Amino acid sequence: MSFFERDDVQTTSRPCKSCRKTTRSHILQKALYEEYVTEVVIDSSDEFANKQWEETEEIIKMRKAKEAVVVCHICWLKRRKEVQNIIEKDYKKWEKNPLAHISRIHVVAEVCNTYDFDTESNKMGSLISKLKESTIQ
Ligand SMILES: [Zn+2]
Repeated sequence: MSFFERDDVQTTSRPCKSCRKTTRSHILQKALYEEYVTEVVIDSSDEFANKQWEETEEIIKMRKAKEAVVVCHICWLKRRKEVQNIIEKDYKKWEKNPLAHISRIHVVAEVCNTYDFDTESNKMGSLISKLKESTIQ
């Protein structure tokens, strides 16, 4: 069975991924749910009957399969600074020859997306479209 996110459930506070302080400032990954089949008794004999019987029905229920991954604002800012430093240092190099740095570009882009760093995400996005162009040619 596959996991899915739920928009109708609020993320509860969890320990920060980095410092373990309880937070829900930044959600890196929402909790994942799965469906499962269970049986419920929909009808049964009354307890004094000579012959006991039970009628059941299969129903589909949902349960949380994986807790959300959250990070506090302090750790989020710290991570952002790290990513900004990396981009500042390497962006020109990546831009010149994105194919040579393809895995690094994807890793940094992934971090930007996960942490929701918009400016940095856009920058990495333009590198990735460059990459796509160069792999097509
Ligand atoms: Zn933290």
